[in-house]
Amino acid sequence: MFKSKTSKVGLIVFLAISMLLAACGKGDKATSGSGKNALDQIKKRGKIVIGVKYDTRLFGLKNPKTGEVEGFDIDISKELAKEILGDEKKVEFKEVTSKTRIPMLNNGDIDAIVATMTISEDRKKEVDFSDVYFDAGQSLLVKKGSPIKGLEDLKKGTKVLAVKGSTSAVNIREKAPEATILEYENYTEAFTALKSGQGDALTTDDSILYGMVDQDPNYQLVGGTFTEEPYGIAVKKGNKELVDALNKALKKIKESGKYDEIKNKWIKTN
Ligand code: GLU
Repeated sequence: MFKSKTSKVGLIVFLAISMLLAACGKGDKATSGSGKNALDQIKKRGKIVIGVKYDTRLFGLKNPKTGEVEGFDIDISKELAKEILGDEKKVEFKEVTSKTRIPMLNNGDIDAIVATMTISEDRKKEVDFSDVYFDAGQSLLVKKGSPIKGLEDLKKGTKVLAVKGSTSAVNIREKAPEATILEYENYTEAFTALKSGQGDALTTDDSILYGMVDQDPNYQLVGGTFTEEPYGIAVKKGNKELVDALNKALKKIKESGKYDEIKNKWIKTN
C-alpha cells in the first residue's frame, strides 16, 4: 500500500517534470529564429541577419579583394538596418542561393531574404513578403552572333541553362517546353557553363543578366522580357510586425531619395 503510493507520487512527479520539460522545449522553438516576436528579437539582439546572394553581380557579389559583399540588395539591406536599428552596420549577411534561401529562413538561420527573390503565389504558401522593392522580368542571355533571338528559337535540342530553385527554371519549362533545361547551383556556375559551351542560352531576370554582360560583353540579352518578376523581402510566415517594419523602412528609403541613389549606382538598363 505504502509502496504503491510512493510509486504513484513518483509517477506524478515524473509526468509533471516531463510536461514541464516539453513545454520548455516548445517555448524555445517558438521564440528561436522568428515566430511572433521576430522584430523584438532583432531589436534585442541589436542586429538583423539577412540572406543575400554572394555570386550575383550588381545585386549581391562577394568582392574577393575585400571579402565584402556588394550590390543593390546589399545597399538596400544596410538601409533597412539603419531604419530599423539606427545603424547600417547592424546587419549580418549570410550567403543564400535560390535553392537554399527558403529553407535557411524557415530554419531560423536568417531573419529575412533580400536576394533577387520574386514574390510569387507559390512562395507565399511558405513565406511572407514585404512590398515590392524592385521590378525585373525574365529574359535570355546568349553569345553575340547566336542564332537564338528569342523564345521562339528555343527548340528541341536547344540547351537552356537556369539556376535551381529559381522562378526562371520553372517558367522556362512552360515557355519553351521543347528545349532541354539544365539547372545549376548558382549564377556563377550557370554563366561559367554557358561560356564553356555547355548550353545555348542562359535564362533568368534581365537585371541579373545585365550583370553578366557587364562582366563579359561578348554576351547579350535577346527576346525582351517574357515574365514579371517583382522582388520582395521574405520573412518567416506570421511575422506581421517584421513585415510592417520592413515596409515602413522601404517607404522611408524611397521617400528620402536613397532608393534612387542606390538604384542608379547598380542597375544597368542598356
Ligand atoms: N527572381 C527570380 C527568382 O526569384 C530569379 C532570380 C533568382 O534566382 O534569385 O527565382
